[in-house]
Amino acid sequence: MFKEIFKNLNGGWMELNLNEEAKKFPEINFSDPVECGIWLQKLHKNYGIDYSYGGFLENRSFIWKDHYNIKEALFIHEGTDFNVSSGTEVFLFEEGEVVEIMRDTEMHGGWGNAVVFWISKIEKYVIYAHMDKDLFVSLNDKYSKGSKVGIVGGPDQNGHYFPHLHLQFMDKDFASKYKRFFDVGGYSAKNSEMLSHLYDPMNFLK
Ligand SMILES: [Zn+2]
Repeated sequence: MFKEIFKNLNGGWMELNLNEEAKKFPEINFSDPVECGIWLQKLHKNYGIDYSYGGFLENRSFIWKDHYNIKEALFIHEGTDFNVSSGTEVFLFEEGEVVEIMRDTEMHGGWGNAVVFWISKIEKYVIYAHMDKDLFVSLNDKYSKGSKVGIVGGPDQNGHYFPHLHLQFMDKDFASKYKRFFDVGGYSAKNSEMLSHLYDPMNFLK
């Protein structure tokens, strides 16, 4: 699965609802990215898988109950997460143009290092987020399908999260509500109108 994004991964995948899985482990501090990462690796082992994915429009009110997002109750996850090790290489699934490069250095649950592509074939903006600082693409350049984008970052690079790639698909209306992609948060409130301008990444990936 997901050979277009993760050319070098060969193990088994499974879809997981992290919020539901987290409820089974009330003793864990999920807001600690190292603790959360170790928990996730154990979870993969228990399920007999190598990697997991999921989370589009998932309500993460349990796993992030102690997180900075709680003040605004922004718990609906806007993309799909691919839970793989830091250092994993990430590739472009379709021809695209880089319209924004985000360096979110605050490290309090931000984007870390992220790239936003305009994918004209499907008329969507796509965010590749939580990567390492070493990116392999440049602003305003066009890239063919299969181009190397970056590598999955660790907590010190990715905005202080467990290692994962966050992909988020947005239409033009979603983007037009923001001055810049940097202001997109990755989480929305439950009844946000913005949710109707998001698209399930699974509809575009193999
Ligand atoms: Zn995510």
